[in-house]
Amino acid sequence: MQQLTVRAVHDCIDRFAPFISAEGYDNVGLLVGCWDQPVTRILCALDVTEATVQEARELGAELIVSHHPLMFHGRKRLIQGDPEADTLKALMINDISLISAHTNWDQSVLSGSASVAHDLGIGDLQQDGYLFTGELLSPANAEQVKQLIEEKIAAPVRMYGDQNLLITTMSFGGGAFGEGYRAAQAAGAQAYLTGEIRHHEIIDAVARGMVIYDAGHYASEAPMIPRLIAYLKEGLTDFTPFTICESAHLPFTGALK
Ligand SMILES: [Zn+2]
Repeated sequence: MQQLTVRAVHDCIDRFAPFISAEGYDNVGLLVGCWDQPVTRILCALDVTEATVQEARELGAELIVSHHPLMFHGRKRLIQGDPEADTLKALMINDISLISAHTNWDQSVLSGSASVAHDLGIGDLQQDGYLFTGELLSPANAEQVKQLIEEKIAAPVRMYGDQNLLITTMSFGGGAFGEGYRAAQAAGAQAYLTGEIRHHEIIDAVARGMVIYDAGHYASEAPMIPRLIAYLKEGLTDFTPFTICESAHLPFTGALK
């Protein structure tokens, strides 16, 4: 049985959601650490903060797999007191590696968008880049769909548009893909669920007869993490045993979920 290493985890993700497919502006793959580091415990999280690193340290995890990368905008300085620099320092001094699977994962069928759609029981899901569109199991009005979303993702949702509009087809573009509403309408959706959308985009979308659901960036993507964990568990069965779990912290407050 082969020793599980950081490289093996990286390559497992790469087979499903090739890192080469990430956007040019993105920062994905092994961002901190050592390719040959043996791995016995993995912590998965949407975001990496100092609290996440502390959690990994307490768990004895040698590797964090995150969705959002560190050093997204690149950086030329690591100065103490800067939150991201302090997080990078904590990773380094604790010998914890970091792999991030961001826009490459967003284009996979286990993306946050696809995961939320599955949790809502959306059938016949069609993919167009980052956008996933499908049919509601039972058509309902926009207000009823909002309640269903809030129940499934356990987070408050802002709704814009006609609350009585009948929704049969719905598109999902989680995270910061607010501008996806146009492609959603072109795909036949009456409603679009995203995680961040600009005011003028909401005005335009509603004027075009759409309903917009803004679930917040975190809640619109967090459902991908259990799927990422399940994928890695299944994909790494040929390697030495390991444990893998989801971070128990919310990124904003560091509070437990
Ligand atoms: Zn995101």
